[in-house]
Amino acid sequence: TDSLTVRLGERSYPIHFGGDLAGIARADVEAFARAGRSMAVITDGNLARAQAPVLKVLFGDTPMFELAPGEETKSLGEFGRVLDFMAAQRLDRTSVLVAAGGGVIGDLAGFAAAAYQRGIDFVQVPTTLLAMVDSSVGGKTGLNLKAGKNLVGAFHQPRAVYIATDMLATLPPREFAAGMAEVIKYGMLADASLFAQLESSPLTASSPPLASVIRRCCEIKARIVEADERELAREGGRALLNLGHTFGHAIEQVTGYGAYLHGEAVAIGLAAAARLSEKLGNISGGDTARVERVVAAHALPVRLRESLPLDALMTAMARDKKVRSGTLRFVVLNSIGDSATRSDVPGALVEETWREVG
Ligand code: NAD
Ligand code: ZN
Repeated sequence: TDSLTVRLGERSYPIHFGGDLAGIARADVEAFARAGRSMAVITDGNLARAQAPVLKVLFGDTPMFELAPGEETKSLGEFGRVLDFMAAQRLDRTSVLVAAGGGVIGDLAGFAAAAYQRGIDFVQVPTTLLAMVDSSVGGKTGLNLKAGKNLVGAFHQPRAVYIATDMLATLPPREFAAGMAEVIKYGMLADASLFAQLESSPLTASSPPLASVIRRCCEIKARIVEADERELAREGGRALLNLGHTFGHAIEQVTGYGAYLHGEAVAIGLAAAARLSEKLGNISGGDTARVERVVAAHALPVRLRESLPLDALMTAMARDKKVRSGTLRFVVLNSIGDSATRSDVPGALVEETWREVG
C-alpha cells in the first residue's frame, strides 16, 4: 500500500491507498482497541449489503449503525439518530467514529464526530468514487436543511482516510460516472497530464491506473486545502475546486435535485465552464471540444437533457452560497490544467453559455 500526508498547520493525517486495505485498517483498529479507545461504524444499507464481507474483515465486531441510503439521510433527524446511537454505545471523548460509505455517510458521520462531546476523532472509509476523490478529503462535514443543501456543518478533519479501491467493484455504473466528473475537473483545473491521460484512455472501474488516478486527485485536493483550509482566500484557493459547480449547482437547484446526480450536473458545468473560458478568450474552441469529448467518453452529459428556463438558472446562480458580495464568482480555465477565479464575468456571456448547453 501507498499513502499521502495531508498537513494542516500542526496537524497532519494519512490517506492510505490500496485495492484492499484489510491489513492496514485492521492493524489500526487493533491499535485503537489496545489504547482502550472504543469505536463505532456508521454506514448505509447499500454498502452494508454490497460489501458485507469486507466490512467484517475491516471492523470485526465493532458496533455498526446502518442508515438508509440516499441524500435525504443528510438531515437533522438522522443526525440526531446517529448521536443517540453514539451515546447508547457509550462513546466518550477518546472514541473513534468510522464513516464507511459515500459522501452522504462521510458528511453526516463526520459532522456527528465534530459535534459529539464537542468533537471526537473520526476516520473516513470512502466507498464511492466521488467520496474517494472529493468528499473524504478536506474536512468539510455537514448536512442539508429544507432550505438548502449543506447549510449546516463544521470543518472537522479526519484522523485518517482509507481508500480501498476494490470497493468500487460494486458501485453502480451511473455513480462511477458521476465521480468521474470530479476526476475530470481535477485534470482541467490543475493537471494537464491527468487530463491527457483521461483523453487517451477513458477510465473505468476496472482500469489498472484507477488507484493512481484517485491518488493524484487526492493530492491535488490536499495541496489546495492545505493552502486554504477554510476557503478564505480572496482569489484562487479552495474556490478553484468549484470549477463547473456554479453552473452545476444551478442545474441541480432548478431541477429539484432529482433529475441529475451531482456529478452529472457538474459534467454539464465543466462543458459550460470551458465554453465560458473560450468566450473570455482564454482557451480555444479546440480546447472546449477536448473537454466535451473527455466528458462524453466517460458516459457523462455535456448538454442539458431538456432545456431549463434561463431566468431560473440565472437566479439560482445568484443564490449559490459561493457567490460573494453580489458578484458572481466563476472558476475559469487559463488553459487545460490551469485555472483561476474571476469576479468580472459579464452576465451576457453567462447567458450565452447557458443557451449553448441548454
Ligand atoms: P452517496 O453517499 O449517496 O452514495 C451514492 C450511492 O452509492 C448510494 O446509494 C450508496 O448507498 C451507494 N454506495 C456507496 N458505496 C457503494 C459501494 N461500494 N457499492 C455499492 N453501492 C455503494 O453519494 P456520493 O456521491 O458518494 O456523495 C454525495 C454527497 O457528498 C453529497 O451529499 C455531497 O454534498 C457530498 N459532498 C461532500 C463534499 C465535502 O467536501 N464534504 C464534497 C463533495 C460532495
Ligand atoms: Zn462536486
